[in-house]
Amino acid sequence: MAGSTSADVVVVGSGVAGSLVAYRLARAGASVILLEAGPRLARWQIVDNFRRAADKRDLCAPYPLLPHAPRPEPMNPGAYLIDRGETPYRPQYLRLVGGTTWHWAGAAWRLLPADFRVRALYGVGRDWPFAYETLEPWYGQAEAELGVAGPNLDLGSPRSTPYPMDALPLSWMDRRVADVLGAQSFRVVPEPMARNSRPYDARPACCGNNNCMPVCPIGALYHAATHADKAERAGATLIAQAVAYRIEANDRGEIAAIHCKDPNGQSTRVTGRRFVIAANGIETPRLLLMSTSARFPKGIANGSDQVGRNLMDHPGTSVSFLANEALWPGRGPVEMSSIVDFRDGPFRAQQAAKKLHLSNAAPTLAVTWNLLAKGLTGGELDRQIRERCARTLTFGSFHEQLPSGANRVTLSAQKDALGLPRPEIAYGIDDYTRRGAADTRAQFARIAGFFGGTELEYDDTLGASSHIMGTAIMGRDPRDSVVDAECRAHGHPNLFIAGSAVMPAGGSVNCTLTIAALSLRLAGTIEASLK
Ligand SMILES: Cc1cc2nc3c(=O)[nH]c(=O)nc-3n(C[C@H](O)[C@H](O)[C@H](O)COP(=O)(O)OP(=O)(O)OC[C@H]3O[C@@H](n4cnc5c(N)ncnc54)[C@H](O)[C@@H]3O)c2cc1C
Ligand code: SF4
Repeated sequence: MAGSTSADVVVVGSGVAGSLVAYRLARAGASVILLEAGPRLARWQIVDNFRRAADKRDLCAPYPLLPHAPRPEPMNPGAYLIDRGETPYRPQYLRLVGGTTWHWAGAAWRLLPADFRVRALYGVGRDWPFAYETLEPWYGQAEAELGVAGPNLDLGSPRSTPYPMDALPLSWMDRRVADVLGAQSFRVVPEPMARNSRPYDARPACCGNNNCMPVCPIGALYHAATHADKAERAGATLIAQAVAYRIEANDRGEIAAIHCKDPNGQSTRVTGRRFVIAANGIETPRLLLMSTSARFPKGIANGSDQVGRNLMDHPGTSVSFLANEALWPGRGPVEMSSIVDFRDGPFRAQQAAKKLHLSNAAPTLAVTWNLLAKGLTGGELDRQIRERCARTLTFGSFHEQLPSGANRVTLSAQKDALGLPRPEIAYGIDDYTRRGAADTRAQFARIAGFFGGTELEYDDTLGASSHIMGTAIMGRDPRDSVVDAECRAHGHPNLFIAGSAVMPAGGSVNCTLTIAALSLRLAGTIEASLK
């Protein structure tokens, strides 16, 4: 393992959370070591892997799958994460320099002020220990760092700065859907997205080729290797293929070192003054739980027994149907419009909030598979592919989920190639979320009706949206939370957690802009503490 093994700040994980923290602190003059379990890949290698991938439906196929840094395999669900709950939980994430934003969709939403106060307003879930206004300036900085293009509209989250870029032009389908549903009193808005609408931060403007998932070939879509690179240029040392497996604490709870292994199992001890765990909502609790000792028999930061608990996502449903007109999804980025009527309201006392969104992913692959399965060939196959691809409309949904101690990540007795316990997951979906989803199905039926929809196909599985929240939950009381309002681990004054694991409530929008805002705020806290 090359390079220094001691620094002011040691960061575990080079996704958007870890890379932003590393960059900001290195820029401020701190010495920083960024430990990343996976390898470093150039964009061209990922694009080449995608072109060679046998099954283009697998979004993870172009990315490394290495024995020392295993990750979920969408086509082989039990291969890494072990389900033992009533509902399977099958999120995706990547392990390489830059993390999971290599293949995200780029939707860059702020939470609503009400999302921070669901207990106070609606009597459900947990409140954040601070108000929206505390995070607002950091949301603005996060939008500037990632490069967010957004509409000049009130989306319900007050802002003190404009979006750094104008929204991208909408496709014909998006405009037509906004017109049709707008006439029926739905509020359809262009989605804020971390995707360039003009050249920004040395990356080009989006050219609309619809390949965002699994990889944007030209880098118009933000990905966190951008900030891993910037961190290195600012002086940080990035050590790839370094799998953190133990956090070492002294008897007072101060963290002394992170221990990590290279792919051959060779261990290195990395010391520092401040430590940041930014390994995502599953790998972060896994590392905390693995770090047991005589003084901390339940693992690090786990005095409350809350590490790994309160696992939340935005359980999703969808509907696809054939519209009675050609709308041609697939022109532009994979997603551009959302329906925001159901993000907040008194109904949240009884049922989950939700965001509905219009998919703009080209349906060609799914349509073609279906037609081939029906035995179509030749000219009729060609005709039906064209006809159905033009008329297929797909709407998805994200539902609010409340924290529950029973939904949790624990350590399995089964080990990975480095001999580390695999994550085991117990997960269920409560009636609050199910009631919200039942209403979503009714809304989907209405929407399909406005387009003369036929051949409706619902997916009501409430599947994972890969927004992995809550597993190192934030709160004022050390007895029922893992980190305080500064993202500092209770009982460990020099240990911080960056990422969605700390979120006590996740509203109904994608969580990554909130991760970025929290990470920038956290970097500010550490910078001040180092002075
Ligand atoms: C298909 C898909 C689409 C998505 N679309 C959106 C979207 O449109 N909008 C949105 O807001 N969110 C979206 N998300 C979610 C988003 O990708 C995540 O919220 C975000 O990437 C999380 O960032 P992170 O830095 O916390 O974690 P990650 O990006 O997962 O990074 C964690 C890093 O830590 C490393 N690591 C893990 N364990 C260790 C260890 N022990 N030692 C060293 N390093 C370690 C990993 O290798 C990884 O590089 C999507 C996710 C998926 C899968
Ligand atoms: S539409 Fe194409 S250029 Fe634009 S972000 Fe997606 S993949 Fe990149």
